Amino acid sequence: MKAMVLNKPKTPLEWTDLPDRQPGPGEIRVNVLACGVCRTDLHVLDGELPDSNSPIIPGHEIVGRIDALGTGVEGLRLGERVGIPWLGHTCGVCPYCVSGRENLCDHPLFTGCTRDGGFATATIADARFAFPLGEVGADVALAPLLCAGLIGWRSLTIAGDGKKLGLYGFGAAAHIVAQVAKWQGRSVYGFTRPGDVATQAFARTLGVTWAGGSDEMPPELLDAAIIFATVGDLVPMALKVLRKGGRVVCAGIHMSDIPSFPYRLLWEERQIASVANLTRQDGIDFLRIAPEVGIVTTTTTYPLNQANEALADLRAGRFDGAAVLVP
Ligand SMILES: [Zn+2]
Ligand SMILES: [Zn+2]
Repeated sequence: MKAMVLNKPKTPLEWTDLPDRQPGPGEIRVNVLACGVCRTDLHVLDGELPDSNSPIIPGHEIVGRIDALGTGVEGLRLGERVGIPWLGHTCGVCPYCVSGRENLCDHPLFTGCTRDGGFATATIADARFAFPLGEVGADVALAPLLCAGLIGWRSLTIAGDGKKLGLYGFGAAAHIVAQVAKWQGRSVYGFTRPGDVATQAFARTLGVTWAGGSDEMPPELLDAAIIFATVGDLVPMALKVLRKGGRVVCAGIHMSDIPSFPYRLLWEERQIASVANLTRQDGIDFLRIAPEVGIVTTTTTYPLNQANEALADLRAGRFDGAAVLVP
């Protein structure tokens, strides 16, 4: 197999030949058909996640086809198309696992971070954490659903059921969440970097009610806001656009420091919450509704060996929607 390997944080990924691996008990081997590029991959690359391994093969938005089954795998078959998400393994016995919050497991493995991921021609996954994808939808179009979509879905759930929803950082996750929120009958307000009229125009193509810079006030106060950008300064800015009792949800795994702000911004039962990882139930719920919503992902594809270019373009905001690697 071939892979783009991160040998050391803050160095480019290296195109590497590796021996084919065999799935162990309970594992599957998957031929990678497409793998999305996520902002979390940049955090792994930059060494911003203290627990990440190196060397590691990044990538946790994997669409692939099973080409080998380990012993004891149930419910999946050879040749089946599956999606492999960020949550790669949980312990099953910690207080979080046994109370339906496996996203907070004390001893998890994360795909492309603490177990090898999908920037490769093949990968090995714990079969219990792979989602059958069926045959509807193109591989490249489905890949961003595996993290941008799933984390977006969990964030939307935690944001509550308010009708007026702000989205800060209009990248891969927001462009999916906007479609789901609209399908749920909500109004979406898209916030971009100040002056980024191109991304605001992209947000409008997805039917948002309003799009503007993060330094602007929307035409009305909002019920909730989800921050997908990694910028802590946005937290007090988002509190400012909320009605009483509104909630700000921070969806990223990493964020710059949140500056101090006057208590009056939080007063009147406004809340700040964070979203960590996903549960398998999130995946089941989201992948069930995704075809009903008719989610259309905007993607830019790169050959697998151009993963470094894809990551650089993501960092610089050079495309709308999501980047996807194709082996
Ligand atoms: Zn991700
Ligand atoms: Zn656990």
